[in-house]
Amino acid sequence: MDEFVKLLCKDLEYVNHEIGGELIYIYVKSNRSEAVCPYCRVPGKKVHSHYERRFRDLPMQGKKVEIVLDNLKYFCNNPECGHKTFAESFDCLPFKGKRSRRLTESIIGLSLNVSSVTAASMLSKGTADVGKSTICTLLKKELIHR
Ligand SMILES: [Zn+2]
Repeated sequence: MDEFVKLLCKDLEYVNHEIGGELIYIYVKSNRSEAVCPYCRVPGKKVHSHYERRFRDLPMQGKKVEIVLDNLKYFCNNPECGHKTFAESFDCLPFKGKRSRRLTESIIGLSLNVSSVTAASMLSKGTADVGKSTICTLLKKELIHR
C-alpha cells in the first residue's frame, strides 16, 4: 500500500487503511523532517501541532478513496517572517484543496468529452462525488490556463 501512496506523493507514507461501505480511507503521514514556510521560504523543523486533513483521490478497486492526512503545523524559524506557524503543504494537493491534483485532472479529462450532467453521474459511480456545477467550475479554470 505504501507504493500506492508514493505514486500520489513521494513525501507521504502509508500508515493504515479502512474500508467503509463504498469508501476506502487511507491514513497517511508526512515523511519529511522539516518543511519550508510558504510565506518566507525558510525551512522550519519544530512541530507546533497536528491536525487532520481529508481529501479525495483516484478510486481503487472500484471504490472511492479518501486520504486522511496527519498534517503538521510547524513554527517558522525566521524572526523576520510575518507568520509564526505554517502548515506543511504537498505538491499533490492544492492549497486548501479537497481533491488531489490527479483526481481533478481525471475529472477534467472525462468531462471534456461528455456533458457535465453525464460526467457527474458517471463519476458518482465509483470515482468521485462531484456535482455538475463543480465540474463546470473545474472546466472553466482548466480552459483559462490553456
Ligand atoms: Zn516564515
